[in-house]
Amino acid sequence: MNIDTTHDHHMHSVFSDGSSSIEALADAAVKKGLSRITITDHMPLPFDTRYAMAENHIAAYRASVGTTREKYIGRLDIDMGIEMEYVPEYQSWMDSILDTGWEVAIISVHRLMVNDTYRMVNGTVEEFDLLLQGFNMDIQALYRAYYKTAQAAFETGRFDIAGHLDVLKKHNVNQTYFDESDPVYRDLVLETLDTIRNQGMKMEINMGGFNHPVGEQYPSRWIIREAVNRRIPIVLSSDSHCPDTLGQHFDRAAEMVRKKGAISAD
Ligand SMILES: [Zn+2]
Ligand SMILES: [Zn+2]
Repeated sequence: MNIDTTHDHHMHSVFSDGSSSIEALADAAVKKGLSRITITDHMPLPFDTRYAMAENHIAAYRASVGTTREKYIGRLDIDMGIEMEYVPEYQSWMDSILDTGWEVAIISVHRLMVNDTYRMVNGTVEEFDLLLQGFNMDIQALYRAYYKTAQAAFETGRFDIAGHLDVLKKHNVNQTYFDESDPVYRDLVLETLDTIRNQGMKMEINMGGFNHPVGEQYPSRWIIREAVNRRIPIVLSSDSHCPDTLGQHFDRAAEMVRKKGAISAD
């Protein structure tokens, strides 16, 4: 499988929770030798968060991607993308954003609804503990809900890239919360990969996890191997929130994809 290590598919600017302008991201991308970037700020949500774009900033966001693209013609290709968060209770909200028209739509699950409250999956460890409490400390029920929600998102057929597929392992250092070799977990992941393949979607290897407690990419290497076996197209994402991390660990991820046959039970 061919992996393009010069295209970074996932990053955030000041329009959501990133620290820099779109132009600063483009400038850093050129300096790092990337040939293409996809800007994917968090789209607005129908409730308050610390990361989503303000609802009335979508037009300015599109304009900024557009003007930066013009400025970098011949030096860097720039895609107008989004990271959409799947909130199934707000289908028409999501549809209206998607209907605006985007070149690339990443779909991610960041929260699950428990007791009428959306709890963070990939926030702080305290937030993860609150989520788990919402599932009466039943981690299997939590990860089943997570992957079933991801599958429902993919089955809408409206998205291009499955975002940080196993991000629920963010705080699972030394398997504190769950064991990925649990057959129930593995079957849910494999079922989710089948959904990605059947929808003709791509899967990202998201390097944001290197900056998180788990200290490695999303998803785990055994999941990458299963994705390659299913011939799911794989793309590389830094999930940068600042210019410094653009393209981070891309060579390592490409190596993981190439060596999938040599990676044993991990
Ligand atoms: Zn995300
Ligand atoms: Zn992101």
